[in-house]
Amino acid sequence: MSVEYRRVRVSSALSRSGLYDLDYAYNPYAGCAHGCLYCYARYYTPYREVAENWGRVVYVKENVVEVLRREVRRLRRGVVGVSTTTDPYQPVEEMEELARGGLEVLLSSGFRVSVQTKSPLVLRDLDLLAEHKDLVDVGFTVTTLDDEVARLMEPGAPPPSARAHALRRIAAEGVRTWVFLGPILRGVNDSEESVRRVAQLAAETGSELIYDFLRLKPGLEKHLEPLERRFPGASTTPRWWRERVAALVERVCRELGVRCEPSFPPSKARAARITDFA
Ligand code: SF4
Repeated sequence: MSVEYRRVRVSSALSRSGLYDLDYAYNPYAGCAHGCLYCYARYYTPYREVAENWGRVVYVKENVVEVLRREVRRLRRGVVGVSTTTDPYQPVEEMEELARGGLEVLLSSGFRVSVQTKSPLVLRDLDLLAEHKDLVDVGFTVTTLDDEVARLMEPGAPPPSARAHALRRIAAEGVRTWVFLGPILRGVNDSEESVRRVAQLAAETGSELIYDFLRLKPGLEKHLEPLERRFPGASTTPRWWRERVAALVERVCRELGVRCEPSFPPSKARAARITDFA
């Protein structure tokens, strides 16, 4: 799928995060070339063109690092999610280096950084991440370790095998890592075998596993049609099914000695949060 890029200028770089474990979000791009069918970040971008052409139009916030440099001088230190509504290491980052620029500013200013991605491009910045490992954690979204199923769900994203390789490299440097098993979709990646393979990767790399289910927003069904054609019922999330799969994930993690928690632990729930998208 071809992607159009537009350069925009912004007046702020960090936004307040609604996630319980983040204080701020740094999103150097609006939109995401990974174009995951289930992505609902499209509902959170202020740019209509990006939302309506999710995966096909990406805005590059060309002055975002410069703005960030000014902002960090006046903001209280905290934890910054990089990123929450776009993948910071989508292909354009290779040239633009806005994720790397942001990391440099944040880490040298004493902010903690939580990176979430689907891309091995993050390895380019391993020097920086390893140097500041006391301030950093890196999460990889791995919905499945089946590259073919992942291609259907996440057509523009690097295959999970490449993500697993990158995760192993980062964990080997002693950087704290985690695996985001989400979204889990009914009949797609909810089998014990599929869950176990992902949990095994978490076990092997000493990563925590965070899981979540598909979160349907109005209008998202139409984007999930290609998935529904192959996996009928994939866009439904009945409560009995969520409970059954949550129990499965937690049991498998227990068996493998992996620390595991839902993306939105009830004890930490807050209203109006958005989830991780990358
Ligand atoms: S889920 Fe993440 S990687 Fe996929 S399109 Fe959305 S922001 Fe990009």
